[in-house]
Amino acid sequence: MGVWGYEVLCPRCRTSMEYMSEVERGGEVVVSYFYRCPACGFRVLDERVAVKGLGDGLLLEVHRHTGRRLLVLKSLRASS
Ligand SMILES: [Zn+2]
Repeated sequence: MGVWGYEVLCPRCRTSMEYMSEVERGGEVVVSYFYRCPACGFRVLDERVAVKGLGDGLLLEVHRHTGRRLLVLKSLRASS
């Protein structure tokens, strides 16, 4: 699963990370999108979307992770 022809490697153990989403249901529904290392469980949060009821409609509150984020990328073209 590559992003722009690259795969994202775990900063800890260099395993190829999976892009996943997770839904938390409480007073509001929060969907998190993140990279997760299947080997050591390290997570890099990408985006969180809170979904709130607003009368008849929905209010989406998007938190992009715009702070410092370290991703280790490996070109998919270089590997066979
Ligand atoms: Zn790892």
